[in-house]
Amino acid sequence: MRTELVLAGACGLYCGACGIYRMYRDQDVERLQYNAEEVFHCRPEQIRCEGCRGPEEYRWSPRCAIAGCVAERGHTFCFECAQFACEDLAAFSADRLDLPISNLRRMAEVGLEAWLAEQEVRWRCPACHHPVDIYSRACRTCGAELTH
Ligand SMILES: [Zn+2]
Repeated sequence: MRTELVLAGACGLYCGACGIYRMYRDQDVERLQYNAEEVFHCRPEQIRCEGCRGPEEYRWSPRCAIAGCVAERGHTFCFECAQFACEDLAAFSADRLDLPISNLRRMAEVGLEAWLAEQEVRWRCPACHHPVDIYSRACRTCGAELTH
């Protein structure tokens, strides 16, 4: 697997803007602790993920139904599928600001490398340029308001 593929989920999500990936990657102790206690009921060090293409033992969702379906069909991304965008993907996408489907369309249009470069720029704080995730309304580094 090429390294640049690591942060591109089969479903079209950009791992670099995932809350789990960010809190693990940035070692945001306060956020890890809160999510471990209040949301996932686990230990903070159990919240870890190297991205959807990363090592399975570090993957937050090792049994993701979409990734499984894509692998079973011999594809790398959902947009390669004759059934794109199927009902399962549409439901998944609707729960995630419709980013998966719009990302997949964009990826098919401009190619993976250009898409990754766009994502890398898009998911940064406009004030301090630290990476941010899709769920944060304010930058966790400088506190600036995020509108995405
Ligand atoms: Zn910031």
